[in-house]
Amino acid sequence: MTIKIRLEKHFQESTFHNPMLGNALDTQQLEIRRDPLTGCQSVFNPRLEDKVALFFSPSDPALIERLARESESRCFLCGDRWKQMTPTYPAEVIPQGRIEVGQAVLFPNLFPVSQVHAVTRVGASHYLPLKEFDVNSVREALHASLAFVKSISSAMATVRFLSINGNYLGPAGASIAHPHFQIVGGDQPFTYLEHILERSKKYSGENGSCYWINLLEIEKETGDRFIGETGGVEWITAFSPQGTNEVLGILGQKRDFLEMSEEDMEGLSEGFCKVLKGYDLLGMSTFNFSVYSGPLASQDDSFRCYVRIISRQNVYENYRTDDYFLQKLLRNELILTTPESLASTMRKVFSAEKHD
Ligand SMILES: [Zn+2]
Repeated sequence: MTIKIRLEKHFQESTFHNPMLGNALDTQQLEIRRDPLTGCQSVFNPRLEDKVALFFSPSDPALIERLARESESRCFLCGDRWKQMTPTYPAEVIPQGRIEVGQAVLFPNLFPVSQVHAVTRVGASHYLPLKEFDVNSVREALHASLAFVKSISSAMATVRFLSINGNYLGPAGASIAHPHFQIVGGDQPFTYLEHILERSKKYSGENGSCYWINLLEIEKETGDRFIGETGGVEWITAFSPQGTNEVLGILGQKRDFLEMSEEDMEGLSEGFCKVLKGYDLLGMSTFNFSVYSGPLASQDDSFRCYVRIISRQNVYENYRTDDYFLQKLLRNELILTTPESLASTMRKVFSAEKHD
């Protein structure tokens, strides 16, 4: 095999007198992983493996229900309120002003953070536990999001860098409980997208092959982090995660959003809901995700579309954020559940529902 992807681990030791062990000298082993494309590092201390509860206390269901109940009456995504309360696009961008697909509705964000910034309602329910996200609602929302991308591509040809994203619940950055996705984009890529597009191009130039295809090949060969396949999407856990419980779904045949089909959206929705069920099994209740695309219509063979999903802090009174200086300022991630153990949990969810 000529694949040049290197999955590097670096080991360190940290030694001190530990009062928990009668002040005996204690040496803890640290494993530092490096993402083979970006070089981003993550650190695993096996001694923290059974201490996940120190970092992520369980969600408080009564608190979630109270917050949901209190916000439902003023939610602009509930019922038909969006018809009065949400903005519309100019006719030359979206002829009907908004895009409706089943229960999904897409409209402009009132306070954009990018040249193009749309919001998509996901289903009619104001609040859903992660295990109740259904494939149909997610598919409708992705369908609306992709229809929007296609409209933007013809109405605003300079907008070539888009992504489909989401925050779920307060600790993950969502300002409303009602499930919703956000499409952001413009004439230049966001920092992370720019970085992975550049690195993918460099890899392709040096190796004469696509990093994302090669990554799937080695992950399928070793199997430690490979989860499964839904439609045209192949799912793995990240070797060096940049968020808690990071899962990637790679569309090996698609270079940008314009190449995506109904079948891809079906596969993406199915796998997405399974990952959320896996998070529920792990006791997590919030998430962030982004679906990345190569520049629209560029046919950039060094890149493949993929989704990156991470879980975030749970919902409870006075929760502590899961992002601290380590992530925000030093840009290293902390691994509490190893990618291999996470893949093992996810494989159970993916295979359990194969025959449903
Ligand atoms: Zn609502």
